[in-house]
Amino acid sequence: MNEIANAPSRAETRPPKVLLDHYLKTLRLPSFKREYEKQAGLAAKAGDDHVKYLLRLTELELIDREQRLIDRRIRAAKFPAVKSLDTFDFKAIASLNKSLVQELARCEYIDRRENIIALGPSGTGKTHVALGLGLAACQRGLAVGFTTAASLVHELMEARDEKRLLRLQRQLANLKLLIIDELGFVPLSKTGAELLFEVFSQRYERASTLVTTNLPFDEWTEVFGSERLTGALLDRLTHHVHILELNGDSYRLTEAKKKRRAASASNAEAATSG
Ligand code: ADP
Ligand code: MG
Repeated sequence: MNEIANAPSRAETRPPKVLLDHYLKTLRLPSFKREYEKQAGLAAKAGDDHVKYLLRLTELELIDREQRLIDRRIRAAKFPAVKSLDTFDFKAIASLNKSLVQELARCEYIDRRENIIALGPSGTGKTHVALGLGLAACQRGLAVGFTTAASLVHELMEARDEKRLLRLQRQLANLKLLIIDELGFVPLSKTGAELLFEVFSQRYERASTLVTTNLPFDEWTEVFGSERLTGALLDRLTHHVHILELNGDSYRLTEAKKKRRAASASNAEAATSG
């Protein structure tokens, strides 16, 4: 595209407002464009000078721009659901270090390129915590990716077959936080394990990885097949790592039981009162 196609021409005859809207669009200042008339009215009413008026407009543009970046980051992360730590009930899982999770939500570990492993049986909230930490990183404008171990391996194999492995690896390397959910649910093929290992290897000390798993470390060899590979992988992953332990009953199961108990209690009450 001709980069200077939108530059003002001397023979411009359009009315100023049409031109201004056009220029603001060209400069990609949508909030400025949307707000300048309304803010002018407000500024006139409040007696604000032009500096205050322009300041207000630029602030609005900056705030909206940040929000648009966050929205873009959230969409790009491909979260299966958007869940925040605000809706996580820490009281339901005593083994989980709440203050550590809150500290991690500040995302300084990402600057330090440290990793996280969330470890525990099914239904204890590992994915929820991972989603919450992923969202927190997006809200700081960081590039995040969410995937499961199985689908990442699938994607890597597909990319390799289609000779675009390098491109995918580069995309993954650009993420400040890669969340790999459900490591250990399915054993990996030899190639799958090697490709996944490469991902960890390329991220080591360059960017953060968050892994959720139901497998204690001594069982990882079964997933990766090779003891040597598992050793090397754990070595990299755990060199700078925060471990979140989620040991307890399944939240879903406990909630379902609670509901059933409440329902039968209210049934019993209805029977005695009715
Ligand atoms: P896991 O990944 O460990 O199997 P999930 O994170 O998928 O568990 O949790 C199962 C369901 O229960 C999800 O809907 C999740 O939002 C919810 N959940 C689990 N733990 C909690 C909790 N402590 N507070 C609120 N919701 C929870
Ligand atoms: Mg899960």
